[in-house]
Amino acid sequence: MAGGTVTRFAPSPTGLLHLGHAFSAMIAHQAASGQFLLRIEDIDRDRCRPEFEAAIFEDLAWLGLDWPQPVMRQSARLPVYQAALDYLADLGVTYPCSCTRGDIKAALSAPQEGAPILGPDGLVYPGTCRRRGMKTLRDGDVIRLDAEAAFDLLGDNMLHFQDAKPHVLTRDAFLAGIGDVVLARRGMGTSYHLSVVVDDAAQGVTLVTRGLDLFDSTWIHVLLQRLLDLPTPKYHHHRLIRDEAGKRLAKRDDARSLRELREQGASPADIRALVGL
Ligand code: GLU
Repeated sequence: MAGGTVTRFAPSPTGLLHLGHAFSAMIAHQAASGQFLLRIEDIDRDRCRPEFEAAIFEDLAWLGLDWPQPVMRQSARLPVYQAALDYLADLGVTYPCSCTRGDIKAALSAPQEGAPILGPDGLVYPGTCRRRGMKTLRDGDVIRLDAEAAFDLLGDNMLHFQDAKPHVLTRDAFLAGIGDVVLARRGMGTSYHLSVVVDDAAQGVTLVTRGLDLFDSTWIHVLLQRLLDLPTPKYHHHRLIRDEAGKRLAKRDDARSLRELREQGASPADIRALVGL
């Protein structure tokens, strides 16, 4: 495994890369004193397209970035994610869940519930299926993390990670603001959270650079690292690139895709200047 700081850029090929991605990729590239890795996060087979993957390689090479071949593709690693999920199930920190979004909203509107809380993955799950054992897993269920059981098992009420400064989250804050997140999505066998944790460790990533929009998700990753006995890398959550109206760029804003900007005559140096690098 490479020495020095190992970073990665891990896009999902669900659309064309935009200025925000260029910024993120360049931050990761420049922070790597060891290796800069590219990883294709294509577990969502319904939304990922080969032409977007091809465009990722083309756009990043045009920006002047280079990375070792072959690149890791998450779609090729489903058995590895399944093994991690089995390990977590054996620890007793997962349960199957059949709740629809409607079921969750209905449960949260019950009089004894307070105001619904929006976590990094949507509404914090009210725990309806929490007492279901893994033996009751049926087709169409998702698998959730039992966050309470996870903290009980760790015997620790605090999570930590290091960004520009140290960050700490208490068990109570996790349970209230994040809760029992989905680890294996319907028909997918995994989730962003589980795959990213397993792969960052498998690739020896020592510094995870990504947008501030994923800051709260990092707590889920730190908890999974502790449960799976994997090292917690350092993190750098960078500022987000916004449009003139202050809105965060999204893949659907095609006019701002790197491809479009390139076709309009922009150079890699122009892209750097546009994102303030
Ligand atoms: N595939 C994720 C995305 O495109 C990567 C997030 C991460 O860097 O962890 O948002």
